[in-house]
This record gives sequence, structure tokens and C-alpha cells, in this order.
Amino acid sequence: MSNRRHRVAFSGASLLILGIGIVSLGTLLSEPKIVRGEVQPHKVTKNNSWLAASFPVENFQAYTSAFGYRRSATGGANWEFHGGLDMAAPQGSYIRNWWAGTVIKVGDRDACGTHIVIRSGEWEHTYCHMEGHVETAQGHRYLIDRAGGIQIWEGQQIPTGARIGSVGMTGRTTGPHLHWGLKYANNYVDPALVLREMFSQQQIARGNSTVNYQQSQVIIQESKYTTDSGY
Ligand SMILES: [Zn+2]
Repeated sequence: MSNRRHRVAFSGASLLILGIGIVSLGTLLSEPKIVRGEVQPHKVTKNNSWLAASFPVENFQAYTSAFGYRRSATGGANWEFHGGLDMAAPQGSYIRNWWAGTVIKVGDRDACGTHIVIRSGEWEHTYCHMEGHVETAQGHRYLIDRAGGIQIWEGQQIPTGARIGSVGMTGRTTGPHLHWGLKYANNYVDPALVLREMFSQQQIARGNSTVNYQQSQVIIQESKYTTDSGY
């Protein structure tokens, strides 16, 4: 890819523009086929703020389903909105906290399977299909993954990069993977764009990139979608 500005607009969902000059993930992730609407940026992040973030899974193998619209995973001709990025890894691989924050929810009763939601300022990151289940003690809920030696309580503070669980097959899934969802101010964000930006900045920090730093930005737009229809 060249250094030209690369614009990607996701209809309906959170809309982002990532103006960076690194190799497009387009070869890894098929971009949504449905694109419409005007981009009205209301939030711009610019600088090296992604440098400290952690890649969310160990033993990563492949991106198996991109953020955005896709054919329904349950079959049929319907399209559904996939509010996250699927990242395959062997069952039991540890999941790492992307950004320091507070656990605002643990759950194990829906298509997301055993999951954790962590809030870091305006960001909300969700990790689905984990091993283990939720238990309650003295009115407090926690995720317990005995095989992985993980116990995470609602309300707990979690540092960046800490192990928060392991890859499983709970909820609606056909193989072991992490479904990783991101929201900013309640609007969906494509995790692949954030990962791209993280890699870009980490390459810049190592001094082995020719990325035009000034063009690096993430713009997040209002989302028309409030619920996931697919995990
Ligand atoms: Zn998913």
C-alpha cells in the first residue's frame, strides 16, 4: 500500500476514519460491503496514546470474522451486524486486558458466552466466549476460570496487559476464539482499526517505520446501533 490516506466508512455502526499510511489490513479483513452516509467526526484521537495498549490474546492465529455486516452465522440469507472482531487462538490461550480499567460486568448467559466488560474512561472493551463461568459470593459477582487460574470480580481494577481469562467456546461459537468488542462513548468502534493504529505507533516508537505520524488519527462517529446482533 502507498502512503495515501485510507478512508473506511462503516454504515450505520460506529463510523471511523483512520488516516494512516501503513499496510492496510484489507488483506486480512474483508471490509464491509455496505457503505453509505456522511462522516461527521465528533471525536478525534491524535498522538501516541495507543502506545501502551496490549494486544488482547496470546497465541493469536488469525482474524476469523471482521467487524461490520456479515451473513448471519446461524444461516439463512439475513445480514447481521457483528459488533466486534473475532480472533482465533487455541482453546485455553490467555486473554489480556487491552487497557487498564474497571470491570463493569461479568456474564455467562447469552450468545457472548462467559464474558467480561471493562471500562477505561470513555472506552468499553468486551471479551466473549471465555472459559469458566460466573459465580456470586456475598452479593458480588465474579468470573471463575479454574483451569486458567483466573478469578475476576465486578468492580475490580485491572492493569493493562493483565491476564483476565482464557479462550473458550462458551456462547454462540463454532470454534475457540476471542470475540473482542470496543465502544467509545457508547458507539461501536472497529477493533481492527485500533489494532492497526497500535501497531503503527509501536513501529514508530521502534523507529522502523516511515509512517506519516501527522496523518495518524482515529475518528469516531455516532452509532445507530445499540445492540449486537451477532458475536
Ligand atoms: Zn464475534
